[in-house]
Amino acid sequence: MVMTKVYSWGRLNAFEHEVIDLSTSLLPHALKHPKSGLAYGMGRSYGDVCLNPDGILWNARTLNHFKHFDAQTGILSCEAGVLIADIQRLMVPKGWMLAVTPGTQSITVGGAIANDIHGKNHHRYGSFGDHVLAFDLLRTDGTSIHCRPQEQSDWFTATVGGMGLTGIITTVHLQLRTVPGPWFNSETLVYQSLEEFFELADGSEDNWEYTVSWIDCFSKHKGRGLFMRANHHQDDRFISQKKKLKIPFTPPFSLINRYSLPLFNALYYYLNAANSGKKISHYESFLYPLDHISEWNRLYGPKGFFQYQCVLPRSTGVETVKSILNEIARSGEGSFLNVLKTFGDRKAPGMMSFPQSGVTLALDFPNKGIRTLQLLTRLDSIVREAEGRLYMAKDARMPKDLFYSGYPRLAEFLQYRDPGISSALSRRLIGD
Ligand SMILES: Cc1cc2nc3c(=O)[nH]c(=O)nc-3n(C[C@H](O)[C@H](O)[C@H](O)COP(=O)(O)OP(=O)(O)OC[C@H]3O[C@@H](n4cnc5c(N)ncnc54)[C@H](O)[C@@H]3O)c2cc1C
Repeated sequence: MVMTKVYSWGRLNAFEHEVIDLSTSLLPHALKHPKSGLAYGMGRSYGDVCLNPDGILWNARTLNHFKHFDAQTGILSCEAGVLIADIQRLMVPKGWMLAVTPGTQSITVGGAIANDIHGKNHHRYGSFGDHVLAFDLLRTDGTSIHCRPQEQSDWFTATVGGMGLTGIITTVHLQLRTVPGPWFNSETLVYQSLEEFFELADGSEDNWEYTVSWIDCFSKHKGRGLFMRANHHQDDRFISQKKKLKIPFTPPFSLINRYSLPLFNALYYYLNAANSGKKISHYESFLYPLDHISEWNRLYGPKGFFQYQCVLPRSTGVETVKSILNEIARSGEGSFLNVLKTFGDRKAPGMMSFPQSGVTLALDFPNKGIRTLQLLTRLDSIVREAEGRLYMAKDARMPKDLFYSGYPRLAEFLQYRDPGISSALSRRLIGD
Protein backbone atom coordinates (compact mmCIF):
# COMPACT_ATOMS: atom_id res chain seq x y z
CA MET A 1 0.00 0.00 0.00
CA VAL A 2 1.47 3.39 -1.01
CA MET A 3 0.75 6.30 1.30
CA THR A 4 0.70 9.79 -0.20
CA LYS A 5 0.99 13.12 1.60
CA VAL A 6 -2.03 15.25 0.76
CA TYR A 7 -2.64 18.91 1.62
CA SER A 8 -5.72 21.02 1.45
CA TRP A 9 -5.44 24.60 0.17
CA GLY A 10 -4.58 26.13 3.55
CA ARG A 11 -1.47 23.86 3.74
CA LEU A 12 -1.83 23.64 7.52
CA ASN A 13 -0.93 19.94 7.63
CA ALA A 14 0.05 17.27 5.12
CA PHE A 15 -1.63 14.00 6.04
CA GLU A 16 -0.73 10.53 4.82
CA HIS A 17 -3.49 8.91 2.78
CA GLU A 18 -3.93 5.86 0.63
CA VAL A 19 -5.14 7.41 -2.64
CA ILE A 20 -7.27 5.35 -5.03
CA ASP A 21 -8.06 6.71 -8.49
CA LEU A 22 -11.72 6.28 -9.37
CA SER A 23 -12.82 5.28 -12.84
CA THR A 24 -16.25 4.34 -14.08
CA SER A 25 -15.17 0.77 -14.86
CA LEU A 26 -13.81 0.21 -11.34
CA LEU A 27 -16.87 1.57 -9.54
CA PRO A 28 -18.39 0.43 -7.19
CA HIS A 29 -15.65 -2.14 -6.49
CA ALA A 30 -13.13 0.63 -5.63
CA LEU A 31 -15.30 1.81 -2.74
CA LYS A 32 -15.16 -1.53 -0.91
CA HIS A 33 -12.47 -1.21 1.74
CA PRO A 34 -12.20 -1.97 5.45
CA LYS A 35 -11.13 1.63 6.11
CA SER A 36 -13.40 4.63 5.65
CA GLY A 37 -12.92 6.68 2.48
CA LEU A 38 -13.62 10.17 1.18
CA ALA A 39 -13.88 11.66 -2.30
CA TYR A 40 -11.13 14.18 -3.13
CA GLY A 41 -11.55 16.68 -5.96
CA MET A 42 -8.89 19.36 -6.46
CA GLY A 43 -8.24 19.93 -2.74
CA ARG A 44 -9.23 23.59 -3.13
CA SER A 45 -11.04 23.47 0.20
CA TYR A 46 -8.89 25.29 2.72
CA GLY A 47 -9.33 23.11 5.80
CA ASP A 48 -10.06 19.47 6.51
CA VAL A 49 -13.37 18.84 4.73
CA CYS A 50 -11.45 17.11 1.91
CA LEU A 51 -8.98 15.19 4.10
CA ASN A 52 -9.23 11.76 5.69
CA PRO A 53 -5.94 11.19 7.59
CA ASP A 54 -4.86 7.52 7.74
CA GLY A 55 -7.90 6.58 5.65
CA ILE A 56 -8.63 6.31 1.95
CA LEU A 57 -8.97 9.23 -0.45
CA TRP A 58 -10.87 8.36 -3.61
CA ASN A 59 -9.41 10.60 -6.28
CA ALA A 60 -12.61 11.70 -7.99
CA ARG A 61 -10.70 13.93 -10.43
CA THR A 62 -10.21 10.85 -12.61
CA LEU A 63 -13.99 10.73 -13.27
CA ASN A 64 -13.41 13.39 -15.90
CA HIS A 65 -15.50 12.66 -18.99
CA PHE A 66 -17.94 14.98 -20.68
CA LYS A 67 -21.02 12.95 -21.67
CA HIS A 68 -23.52 15.07 -23.53
CA PHE A 69 -24.43 18.67 -24.28
CA ASP A 70 -27.79 19.81 -25.62
CA ALA A 71 -27.18 23.11 -27.42
CA GLN A 72 -30.91 23.88 -27.47
CA THR A 73 -31.55 23.59 -23.75
CA GLY A 74 -28.06 24.20 -22.33
CA ILE A 75 -28.14 20.95 -20.34
CA LEU A 76 -24.65 19.52 -19.82
CA SER A 77 -24.03 15.97 -18.58
CA CYS A 78 -20.56 15.12 -17.31
CA GLU A 79 -18.71 13.12 -14.69
CA ALA A 80 -18.18 14.75 -11.32
CA GLY A 81 -14.39 15.09 -11.67
CA VAL A 82 -14.66 17.46 -14.63
CA LEU A 83 -13.14 20.86 -13.85
CA ILE A 84 -15.17 24.06 -13.79
CA ALA A 85 -12.36 25.64 -15.89
CA ASP A 86 -12.81 23.00 -18.60
CA ILE A 87 -16.57 23.54 -18.71
CA GLN A 88 -16.17 27.30 -18.98
CA ARG A 89 -13.51 27.12 -21.70
CA LEU A 90 -15.52 24.64 -23.73
CA MET A 91 -18.90 26.29 -23.29
CA VAL A 92 -18.28 30.07 -23.33
CA PRO A 93 -17.35 30.04 -27.06
CA LYS A 94 -20.67 28.23 -27.65
CA GLY A 95 -22.56 30.99 -25.78
CA TRP A 96 -23.15 29.07 -22.54
CA MET A 97 -21.64 29.27 -19.08
CA LEU A 98 -22.06 27.80 -15.61
CA ALA A 99 -24.54 29.96 -13.73
CA VAL A 100 -22.53 29.91 -10.48
CA THR A 101 -18.78 29.52 -9.95
CA PRO A 102 -16.52 30.36 -6.99
CA GLY A 103 -13.40 32.57 -6.90
CA THR A 104 -11.32 29.84 -8.57
CA GLN A 105 -12.17 27.68 -11.55
CA SER A 106 -9.68 24.97 -10.53
CA ILE A 107 -12.32 22.90 -8.79
CA THR A 108 -14.37 19.86 -9.74
CA VAL A 109 -18.11 19.68 -10.29
CA GLY A 110 -18.30 17.14 -7.41
CA GLY A 111 -16.49 19.56 -5.07
CA ALA A 112 -18.82 22.38 -6.18
CA ILE A 113 -21.87 20.29 -5.25
CA ALA A 114 -20.44 18.88 -2.01
CA ASN A 115 -19.77 22.39 -0.67
CA ASP A 116 -22.67 23.98 -2.56
CA ILE A 117 -20.30 26.75 -3.55
CA HIS A 118 -21.41 30.34 -4.15
CA GLY A 119 -20.09 33.03 -6.45
CA LYS A 120 -20.26 36.77 -6.97
CA ASN A 121 -23.83 36.59 -8.28
CA HIS A 122 -25.60 34.90 -5.36
CA HIS A 123 -28.30 37.59 -5.27
CA ARG A 124 -29.21 36.72 -8.88
CA TYR A 125 -28.42 33.00 -9.30
CA GLY A 126 -28.19 31.49 -5.81
CA SER A 127 -25.61 28.74 -5.27
CA PHE A 128 -24.27 25.90 -7.42
CA GLY A 129 -26.92 23.42 -6.26
CA ASP A 130 -29.65 25.66 -7.69
CA HIS A 131 -28.46 24.71 -11.19
CA VAL A 132 -27.97 20.99 -10.69
CA LEU A 133 -30.78 19.12 -12.45
CA ALA A 134 -29.74 15.62 -11.35
CA PHE A 135 -26.82 13.45 -10.26
CA ASP A 136 -26.07 9.84 -9.51
CA LEU A 137 -24.93 9.11 -5.98
CA LEU A 138 -23.01 5.90 -5.42
CA ARG A 139 -23.05 4.57 -1.87
CA THR A 140 -20.27 2.40 -0.47
CA ASP A 141 -22.72 -0.53 -0.19
CA GLY A 142 -22.87 -0.50 -4.01
CA THR A 143 -26.33 1.04 -4.40
CA SER A 144 -26.76 4.00 -6.72
CA ILE A 145 -29.39 6.70 -6.22
CA HIS A 146 -30.52 8.96 -9.05
CA CYS A 147 -31.23 12.28 -7.31
CA ARG A 148 -33.18 15.24 -8.62
CA PRO A 149 -34.87 18.11 -6.80
CA GLN A 150 -38.17 16.37 -7.61
CA GLU A 151 -37.07 12.71 -7.22
CA GLN A 152 -35.24 11.33 -4.20
CA SER A 153 -35.30 14.99 -3.23
CA ASP A 154 -34.21 14.24 0.34
CA TRP A 155 -31.01 12.62 -1.00
CA PHE A 156 -30.58 15.60 -3.33
CA THR A 157 -30.82 18.19 -0.55
CA ALA A 158 -28.62 16.14 1.79
CA THR A 159 -25.87 15.76 -0.84
CA VAL A 160 -25.85 19.39 -2.05
CA GLY A 161 -23.61 20.95 0.61
CA GLY A 162 -23.25 17.49 2.21
CA MET A 163 -19.41 17.61 2.36
CA GLY A 164 -19.05 14.36 0.41
CA LEU A 165 -20.45 12.42 3.36
CA THR A 166 -23.53 10.92 1.67
CA GLY A 167 -21.76 9.00 -1.14
CA ILE A 168 -19.73 9.53 -4.29
CA ILE A 169 -21.30 11.79 -6.91
CA THR A 170 -20.51 10.13 -10.23
CA THR A 171 -22.49 11.72 -13.09
CA VAL A 172 -24.08 15.17 -13.01
CA HIS A 173 -26.61 17.00 -15.20
CA LEU A 174 -26.22 20.76 -15.08
CA GLN A 175 -28.34 23.59 -16.41
CA LEU A 176 -26.05 26.18 -18.01
CA ARG A 177 -27.12 29.77 -18.76
CA THR A 178 -26.62 31.71 -21.97
CA VAL A 179 -23.95 34.42 -22.27
CA PRO A 180 -23.11 36.79 -25.13
CA GLY A 181 -19.37 36.05 -24.87
CA PRO A 182 -16.42 36.08 -22.49
CA TRP A 183 -16.42 39.80 -21.72
CA PHE A 184 -17.78 41.78 -18.80
CA ASN A 185 -18.58 45.47 -18.36
CA SER A 186 -16.99 45.98 -14.98
CA GLU A 187 -16.65 48.87 -12.62
CA THR A 188 -14.50 49.43 -9.50
CA LEU A 189 -15.68 51.96 -6.93
CA VAL A 190 -13.91 53.15 -3.81
CA TYR A 191 -15.81 53.17 -0.51
CA GLN A 192 -14.74 54.74 2.75
CA SER A 193 -17.02 53.07 5.28
CA LEU A 194 -19.10 49.96 5.83
CA GLU A 195 -22.25 52.03 5.57
CA GLU A 196 -21.11 53.07 2.10
CA PHE A 197 -20.35 49.44 1.22
CA PHE A 198 -23.90 48.38 2.10
CA GLU A 199 -25.37 51.28 0.13
CA LEU A 200 -23.37 50.21 -2.93
CA ALA A 201 -24.26 46.53 -2.47
CA ASP A 202 -27.98 47.20 -2.05
CA GLY A 203 -28.01 49.76 -4.85
CA SER A 204 -26.28 47.34 -7.25
CA GLU A 205 -28.50 44.31 -6.68
CA ASP A 206 -31.11 45.11 -9.31
CA ASN A 207 -28.86 46.23 -12.14
CA TRP A 208 -25.58 44.35 -11.64
CA GLU A 209 -25.23 40.59 -11.85
CA TYR A 210 -21.84 40.28 -10.14
CA THR A 211 -20.83 42.18 -7.02
CA VAL A 212 -17.93 41.68 -4.64
CA SER A 213 -15.66 43.85 -2.56
CA TRP A 214 -12.23 43.88 -0.99
CA ILE A 215 -11.96 45.49 2.40
CA ASP A 216 -8.80 46.98 3.90
CA CYS A 217 -8.07 45.42 7.28
CA PHE A 218 -5.34 47.88 8.23
CA SER A 219 -6.54 51.31 7.32
CA LYS A 220 -7.28 53.79 10.08
CA HIS A 221 -10.48 54.53 8.13
CA LYS A 222 -12.19 51.36 9.31
CA GLY A 223 -14.20 49.89 6.53
CA ARG A 224 -12.64 51.43 3.46
CA GLY A 225 -12.40 49.22 0.44
CA LEU A 226 -13.02 48.60 -3.23
CA PHE A 227 -16.39 47.57 -4.61
CA MET A 228 -16.34 45.64 -7.89
CA ARG A 229 -19.41 44.99 -10.01
CA ALA A 230 -20.00 43.64 -13.49
CA ASN A 231 -22.49 42.58 -16.13
CA HIS A 232 -22.02 40.52 -19.27
CA HIS A 233 -20.89 42.51 -22.31
CA GLN A 234 -22.18 41.96 -25.85
CA ASP A 235 -18.99 40.85 -27.60
CA ASP A 236 -18.31 37.26 -28.57
CA ARG A 237 -14.58 37.33 -29.45
CA PHE A 238 -13.19 34.47 -27.41
CA ILE A 239 -9.77 34.66 -25.80
CA SER A 240 -8.72 32.29 -23.05
CA GLN A 241 -6.57 33.99 -20.44
CA LYS A 242 -3.21 32.39 -19.72
CA LYS A 243 -1.70 31.81 -16.28
CA LYS A 244 0.80 34.59 -15.62
CA LEU A 245 2.81 33.62 -12.59
CA LYS A 246 3.58 30.56 -10.50
CA ILE A 247 4.96 30.44 -6.95
CA PRO A 248 7.58 27.75 -7.65
CA PHE A 249 8.44 26.75 -4.07
CA THR A 250 7.30 27.25 -0.49
CA PRO A 251 9.44 29.96 1.17
CA PRO A 252 10.89 29.00 4.57
CA PHE A 253 8.72 31.62 6.31
CA SER A 254 5.46 33.36 5.49
CA LEU A 255 5.88 36.26 3.06
CA ILE A 256 2.49 37.43 4.32
CA ASN A 257 3.47 38.72 7.75
CA ARG A 258 3.01 41.66 10.13
CA TYR A 259 5.50 43.78 8.16
CA SER A 260 4.30 43.01 4.65
CA LEU A 261 0.56 42.91 5.38
CA PRO A 262 -0.06 46.64 6.00
CA LEU A 263 2.04 47.39 2.93
CA PHE A 264 0.14 44.90 0.74
CA ASN A 265 -3.20 46.25 1.95
CA ALA A 266 -2.23 49.87 1.31
CA LEU A 267 -0.65 49.07 -2.07
CA TYR A 268 -3.66 47.07 -3.21
CA TYR A 269 -6.00 49.83 -2.14
CA TYR A 270 -4.11 52.70 -3.75
CA LEU A 271 -3.27 50.87 -6.99
CA ASN A 272 -6.86 49.80 -7.52
CA ALA A 273 -8.33 53.09 -6.33
CA ALA A 274 -6.12 54.86 -8.89
CA ASN A 275 -7.45 52.52 -11.60
CA SER A 276 -11.05 52.64 -10.43
CA GLY A 277 -13.85 53.28 -12.87
CA LYS A 278 -15.33 51.35 -15.77
CA LYS A 279 -13.61 48.89 -18.08
CA ILE A 280 -14.12 45.78 -20.18
CA SER A 281 -12.79 42.70 -18.38
CA HIS A 282 -12.40 39.09 -19.41
CA TYR A 283 -14.59 36.79 -17.34
CA GLU A 284 -11.53 34.89 -16.06
CA SER A 285 -9.88 38.08 -14.76
CA PHE A 286 -13.03 39.30 -13.07
CA LEU A 287 -14.29 36.02 -11.63
CA TYR A 288 -11.02 34.22 -10.83
CA PRO A 289 -8.32 36.88 -10.28
CA LEU A 290 -6.27 34.64 -7.99
CA ASP A 291 -6.00 31.91 -10.62
CA HIS A 292 -3.45 34.10 -12.41
CA ILE A 293 -0.94 33.26 -9.68
CA SER A 294 -0.86 29.50 -9.44
CA GLU A 295 -0.09 28.02 -6.02
CA TRP A 296 -0.26 31.45 -4.36
CA ASN A 297 -1.06 29.57 -1.13
CA ARG A 298 2.68 28.77 -0.83
CA LEU A 299 3.33 32.45 -0.01
CA TYR A 300 2.13 31.70 3.52
CA GLY A 301 5.18 29.52 4.12
CA PRO A 302 5.49 26.04 5.62
CA LYS A 303 2.93 26.57 8.41
CA GLY A 304 0.15 27.47 6.01
CA PHE A 305 -2.79 29.72 6.78
CA PHE A 306 -6.34 29.75 8.08
CA GLN A 307 -9.21 31.09 6.11
CA TYR A 308 -12.11 32.35 8.18
CA GLN A 309 -15.41 32.86 6.36
CA CYS A 310 -18.64 33.71 8.11
CA VAL A 311 -22.08 34.81 7.02
CA LEU A 312 -23.87 37.32 9.25
CA PRO A 313 -27.46 38.54 9.33
CA ARG A 314 -27.91 41.68 7.27
CA SER A 315 -29.75 43.59 10.04
CA THR A 316 -26.66 43.69 12.28
CA GLY A 317 -24.11 43.37 9.48
CA VAL A 318 -22.49 46.82 9.81
CA GLU A 319 -21.94 46.51 13.56
CA THR A 320 -20.77 42.91 13.44
CA VAL A 321 -18.29 43.45 10.61
CA LYS A 322 -16.96 46.51 12.51
CA SER A 323 -16.51 44.39 15.64
CA ILE A 324 -14.61 41.77 13.65
CA LEU A 325 -12.32 44.40 12.07
CA ASN A 326 -11.70 46.02 15.46
CA GLU A 327 -10.84 42.66 17.03
CA ILE A 328 -8.37 41.95 14.22
CA ALA A 329 -6.80 45.41 14.64
CA ARG A 330 -6.50 44.90 18.43
CA SER A 331 -4.80 41.54 17.93
CA GLY A 332 -2.02 43.00 15.79
CA GLU A 333 -2.71 40.22 13.28
CA GLY A 334 -3.96 40.94 9.80
CA SER A 335 -5.36 39.58 6.62
CA PHE A 336 -4.85 40.50 2.97
CA LEU A 337 -7.46 38.61 0.98
CA ASN A 338 -10.44 40.19 2.69
CA VAL A 339 -13.64 39.65 0.76
CA LEU A 340 -16.91 41.23 1.81
CA LYS A 341 -20.07 40.46 -0.11
CA THR A 342 -23.82 40.36 0.39
CA PHE A 343 -25.87 37.22 -0.20
CA GLY A 344 -29.36 37.47 -1.65
CA ASP A 345 -32.49 36.51 0.22
CA ARG A 346 -32.88 33.00 -1.25
CA LYS A 347 -33.69 29.56 0.09
CA ALA A 348 -30.58 27.36 -0.03
CA PRO A 349 -30.83 24.11 -2.02
CA GLY A 350 -28.99 21.95 0.53
CA MET A 351 -29.65 21.02 4.17
CA MET A 352 -26.07 22.00 5.01
CA SER A 353 -25.56 24.80 2.45
CA PHE A 354 -23.54 27.73 3.73
CA PRO A 355 -25.15 30.73 1.99
CA GLN A 356 -28.00 32.45 3.74
CA SER A 357 -29.44 35.92 3.48
CA GLY A 358 -26.94 38.45 4.84
CA VAL A 359 -23.35 39.48 4.40
CA THR A 360 -20.32 37.20 4.14
CA LEU A 361 -16.78 38.12 5.15
CA ALA A 362 -13.77 35.95 4.23
CA LEU A 363 -10.34 36.56 5.76
CA ASP A 364 -6.96 34.79 5.47
CA PHE A 365 -4.58 34.62 8.45
CA PRO A 366 -1.03 33.28 8.35
CA ASN A 367 -0.79 30.39 10.82
CA LYS A 368 1.10 31.66 13.86
CA GLY A 369 -0.11 28.85 16.08
CA ILE A 370 -1.81 29.67 19.35
CA ARG A 371 -1.89 33.43 18.68
CA THR A 372 -3.89 32.98 15.52
CA LEU A 373 -6.15 30.36 17.10
CA GLN A 374 -6.90 32.71 20.00
CA LEU A 375 -7.86 35.48 17.60
CA LEU A 376 -10.14 33.12 15.68
CA THR A 377 -11.79 32.07 18.95
CA ARG A 378 -12.53 35.72 19.68
CA LEU A 379 -13.98 36.14 16.18
CA ASP A 380 -16.14 33.04 16.86
CA SER A 381 -17.67 34.84 19.87
CA ILE A 382 -18.65 37.78 17.68
CA VAL A 383 -20.13 35.49 15.00
CA ARG A 384 -21.96 33.41 17.64
CA GLU A 385 -23.49 36.48 19.24
CA ALA A 386 -24.61 37.76 15.83
CA GLU A 387 -26.17 34.34 15.07
CA GLY A 388 -23.93 33.83 12.08
CA ARG A 389 -22.32 30.68 10.74
CA LEU A 390 -18.92 29.59 9.42
CA TYR A 391 -18.23 27.95 6.05
CA MET A 392 -17.09 24.31 6.22
CA ALA A 393 -15.18 24.55 2.90
CA LYS A 394 -12.83 27.00 4.60
CA ASP A 395 -12.75 25.57 8.08
CA ALA A 396 -10.07 23.65 10.00
CA ARG A 397 -10.96 24.49 13.60
CA MET A 398 -14.49 25.76 14.30
CA PRO A 399 -15.88 24.79 17.71
CA LYS A 400 -18.71 22.26 17.76
CA ASP A 401 -21.27 24.58 19.33
CA LEU A 402 -20.84 27.10 16.50
CA PHE A 403 -21.27 24.29 13.98
CA TYR A 404 -24.47 23.06 15.67
CA SER A 405 -25.97 26.53 16.01
CA GLY A 406 -25.00 27.49 12.46
CA TYR A 407 -26.40 24.36 10.84
CA PRO A 408 -29.80 23.64 12.44
CA ARG A 409 -30.61 20.84 9.93
CA LEU A 410 -27.65 18.73 11.07
CA ALA A 411 -29.76 16.00 12.76
CA GLU A 412 -31.85 15.59 9.61
CA PHE A 413 -28.70 15.48 7.46
CA LEU A 414 -27.08 12.75 9.55
CA GLN A 415 -29.74 10.23 8.45
CA TYR A 416 -28.25 10.34 4.93
CA ARG A 417 -24.61 9.76 5.85
CA ASP A 418 -22.79 6.89 4.23
CA PRO A 419 -21.26 4.76 7.02
CA GLY A 420 -18.25 3.94 4.82
CA ILE A 421 -17.33 7.64 4.44
CA SER A 422 -15.59 9.86 6.93
CA SER A 423 -13.40 12.96 6.89
CA ALA A 424 -11.16 14.83 9.30
CA LEU A 425 -13.90 17.47 9.49
CA SER A 426 -16.70 14.96 10.20
CA ARG A 427 -14.66 13.31 12.97
CA ARG A 428 -13.81 16.69 14.48
CA LEU A 429 -17.33 18.14 14.39
CA ILE A 430 -19.72 15.19 14.28
CA GLY A 431 -17.65 12.52 16.02
CA ASP A 432 -17.30 9.88 13.27
C1 LIG B 1 -8.78 30.75 -4.53
C2 LIG B 1 -10.04 30.11 -4.01
C3 LIG B 1 -11.21 30.82 -4.10
C4 LIG B 1 -12.40 30.25 -3.63
N1 LIG B 1 -13.55 30.97 -3.73
C5 LIG B 1 -14.71 30.44 -3.31
C6 LIG B 1 -15.94 31.14 -3.46
O1 LIG B 1 -15.96 32.28 -3.97
N2 LIG B 1 -17.08 30.54 -3.06
C7 LIG B 1 -17.08 29.27 -2.54
O2 LIG B 1 -18.16 28.77 -2.21
N3 LIG B 1 -15.93 28.57 -2.39
C8 LIG B 1 -14.77 29.13 -2.75
N4 LIG B 1 -13.61 28.40 -2.63
C9 LIG B 1 -13.66 27.06 -2.06
C10 LIG B 1 -13.85 25.97 -3.13
O3 LIG B 1 -14.71 26.42 -4.15
C11 LIG B 1 -14.51 24.74 -2.48
O4 LIG B 1 -13.76 24.32 -1.39
C12 LIG B 1 -14.72 23.58 -3.47
O5 LIG B 1 -15.57 22.67 -2.86
C13 LIG B 1 -13.40 22.89 -3.83
O6 LIG B 1 -13.66 21.89 -4.81
P1 LIG B 1 -12.63 20.71 -5.08
O7 LIG B 1 -12.97 20.07 -6.37
O8 LIG B 1 -11.24 21.20 -4.91
O9 LIG B 1 -13.01 19.70 -3.91
P2 LIG B 1 -12.18 19.25 -2.63
O10 LIG B 1 -11.71 20.45 -1.91
O11 LIG B 1 -11.17 18.23 -3.01
O12 LIG B 1 -13.34 18.56 -1.80
C14 LIG B 1 -14.38 19.34 -1.25
C15 LIG B 1 -15.50 18.44 -0.78
O13 LIG B 1 -16.10 17.83 -1.93
C16 LIG B 1 -16.21 16.44 -1.74
N5 LIG B 1 -16.18 15.84 -3.07
C17 LIG B 1 -15.33 16.07 -4.08
N6 LIG B 1 -15.64 15.33 -5.15
C18 LIG B 1 -16.73 14.60 -4.81
C19 LIG B 1 -17.52 13.62 -5.47
N7 LIG B 1 -17.29 13.24 -6.72
N8 LIG B 1 -18.54 13.08 -4.78
C20 LIG B 1 -18.83 13.44 -3.51
N9 LIG B 1 -18.11 14.36 -2.84
C21 LIG B 1 -17.07 14.93 -3.49
C22 LIG B 1 -15.01 16.10 -0.86
O14 LIG B 1 -15.21 14.87 -0.18
C23 LIG B 1 -15.01 17.28 0.09
O15 LIG B 1 -15.93 17.08 1.12
C24 LIG B 1 -12.40 28.94 -3.09
C25 LIG B 1 -11.20 28.22 -3.01
C26 LIG B 1 -10.02 28.80 -3.47
C27 LIG B 1 -8.74 28.01 -3.38
